[in-house]
Amino acid sequence: MRAGVLNDLTKCIGCGACAAACKQINNLPRGKASQLEADTWTYVDYRHNTFIRRMCMHCLEPTCASVCPVGALRKTETGAITYDASRCIGCRYCVMACPFDIPKYQWDRALPITQKCVLCYEKRLKQGEEPACTAVCPTGATLFGDRDALIREAERRIRENPEQYVPHIYGLREAGGTSVLYLSPVPFEELGFKTGVRDEAYPELTWGVLSKTPFIVSFGAAVLFGLSWVINRRIQLAALTSVEAVADAEVAAESESGEGGEPQ
Ligand code: SF4
Ligand code: SF4
Ligand code: SF4
Repeated sequence: MRAGVLNDLTKCIGCGACAAACKQINNLPRGKASQLEADTWTYVDYRHNTFIRRMCMHCLEPTCASVCPVGALRKTETGAITYDASRCIGCRYCVMACPFDIPKYQWDRALPITQKCVLCYEKRLKQGEEPACTAVCPTGATLFGDRDALIREAERRIRENPEQYVPHIYGLREAGGTSVLYLSPVPFEELGFKTGVRDEAYPELTWGVLSKTPFIVSFGAAVLFGLSWVINRRIQLAALTSVEAVADAEVAAESESGEGGEPQ
């Protein structure tokens, strides 16, 4: 099955249960957000009397993964685009390359990485469960299922209720197609969707091409690889040092108590 999510904006009541479920399952700090952030992987926007849940589109040909020089972002067998935080070097190529402006950078952290929705791949999809956000939606406004089946369902809804929907499934072809799809009662451009995104994928934006073109990119990557190694090494050393320090302190304490135990 190629996983998909159908967000039908005519059914969304703006309750925010999806956003809360995402925060909970991913241990993200609580709080209402009005945009995607490193700690907010989905939220509910409101424009033209319409609630709009924003999230990663999970592109069929993800530009974010193709430009990542260390393979931190990858497309899984389900179609979910995941990232491995331990590999991320914080270069932000994915942030710049994403046609939907999805990945967000941890500007406030000492060792920042980028973050985004991972379609609950590790925590739910691999166990055969649907994403936490779609599971809690009380109205079926966000549906999980096979992408092809969701497309057929979306076409049926438009065909049977043409007065309720604009005749377009957003994500069917944008950027080569996405696993997350939208139906809307209002033209997508009025709801802040990127309608200038072309239908073909963005194959020229790959790390292989980027690394061969401007010298500065490959030079920058080499520097970032080096920095990443140094940072990781320092973290490992700090952890090792603190473990050793604790062990030394325990030995010293034992030895002191042993020495002081016998009165002279
Ligand atoms: S929407 Fe952006 S971050 Fe999400 S898979 Fe597509 S390119 Fe990657
Ligand atoms: S699929 Fe999972 S990670 Fe993505 S928005 Fe929903 S709950 Fe969050
Ligand atoms: S849980 Fe469903 S109805 Fe509630 S805000 Fe999210 S998508 Fe809309």
